[in-house]
Amino acid sequence: MNPILPGSTIGVLGSGQLGRMFAIAARRMGYRVHTLSPEFDTPAGQVSDVEISAHYEDLDAVRAFASKVDVVTFEFENIPVMTAEAVAQIVPVRPAGRILHIAQQRIREKNFLESASVPLAPFRVVSSLADLRRAISEVGCPSILKTADFGYDGKGQTRIATPADAEKAWATVGGRLGVLEAFVEFECELSVVAARSLTGDFAHYGTLENHHRNHILDATVAPARIPQRLASDAVQMARTILEKLDVVGVGCVEFFLTRAGKLLVNEIAPRPHNSGHFSVDACVTSQFEQQLRAICGLPLGSTEQLRPAAMANLLGDLWEDGNPDWLTLCRQPQVKLHLYGKLEPRPGRKMGHLCAMAADTDAALRAVLEARECLVQSRR
Ligand code: AMP
Repeated sequence: MNPILPGSTIGVLGSGQLGRMFAIAARRMGYRVHTLSPEFDTPAGQVSDVEISAHYEDLDAVRAFASKVDVVTFEFENIPVMTAEAVAQIVPVRPAGRILHIAQQRIREKNFLESASVPLAPFRVVSSLADLRRAISEVGCPSILKTADFGYDGKGQTRIATPADAEKAWATVGGRLGVLEAFVEFECELSVVAARSLTGDFAHYGTLENHHRNHILDATVAPARIPQRLASDAVQMARTILEKLDVVGVGCVEFFLTRAGKLLVNEIAPRPHNSGHFSVDACVTSQFEQQLRAICGLPLGSTEQLRPAAMANLLGDLWEDGNPDWLTLCRQPQVKLHLYGKLEPRPGRKMGHLCAMAADTDAALRAVLEARECLVQSRR
C-alpha cells in the first residue's frame, strides 16, 4: 500500500482538543487537514484548512467530506459507526470502524478484553433491577454500576455501597443496559499510550501514572513511579490489546494497580489520550505525530522521552472568577501552556493543560501543580 505523503489531506471526524493537537502535528509536517463535526469555530476547526459543520448522521455531507481527503481518522470514539462505514467506502478509516464499535460500548469492550485474556475487575452485565440485585450478590459491595454506552469521565456511573442501594442506583443510571463492576481498591491508576503502524510495528510511551479528580483526569506523571517489572507488564498487555484489535493508529489502555500489586485493565481508547499529552513537549515524536504517521502508512517515530515530565489539566472551573493569570504562568520558563481555543469555560470542561519537565518526576509534578495553583492565586 502506498504511503500517504506530506502534501496530502487528512480528514478528522470530531473537533475537540485531540483533533486540534492532531491537526497542528499534521500541518507542521506539511499535510492539509479537513475536520467534520456538528459545531463551528471548534478547537480542531480553528487550526484546520477546512472546517465542515455537519451532523455525523448527514451521510451526504460525510461522503462529500470523504471525497476530498486521502485518509480519515477520528478524535473521539462516539462517532456513529455508520459514519465510519460511509467514509470507508471512499477512503481508508484508521483505526477501522470495527474498533470504534467495540470501544463505544462497555459490554462489547469487556467481552473483547476477556477474549484477549487480560485481567479485569470482576463484572456482570445487567439489564434489569432483578439482574442488578443478582449481580450485587455475586460481585459484592462496594461496586460501581456503569451504563453500557456513552460513558466518559465518570458520567453514567454510580457507586453501590450496600445491596440496599440497588434501586436508587438503577434509577440513577437511567434503568439502561449496564455493567456492575467490583470497586477496585487501587494503589494508583496507570495508562499506556502506544501506536501500531500499517505494517504492525509497535511503539509505546512507557507506563504513565494518572491522578483523577471527580472521575476526570487531573494530572499525569511520565514515567509512572512504579517498579520496572509492572511498567513492562502494562506495556505488554497494551501491546496484546492493540494487536488483537488490529489497531492502525494510536491507542490508550487504562489500568488500575491494586493495593495487592496486580494490574487490572479498566478501559481502552482507540485514539490519542489525555494521559499522552506530555509527549507533545517531552518526546521526540508526540502521540499526535505518531497517529499521523501510523494512519498515513509511514514508519513510526521515536517515542524517546527527553526529560521526566508531568501534565496537569486546566478545567473550566479555573475561569470561575475570571481569566486565569497567564502572565504569571509565562514567567515560569519550564512550564508549557496549551489552550484548546474553547470559547466557553464550563466547570469540568477541559480547556487546556500545562506540562512541566524537570530532572525527576517528583520535581516535574511539583512544578506543574504549583504553576496551576499560581494561575488562580495570583489573580486573587
Ligand atoms: P471510567 O470512565 O470507567 O474510566 O471511570 C472513571 C474513573 O472512575 C476511573 O478513572 C476511576 O478513578 C474511577 N473508577 C471507575 N471504575 C472503578 C472501579 N471499578 N473501582 C474503583 N474506581 C473506579
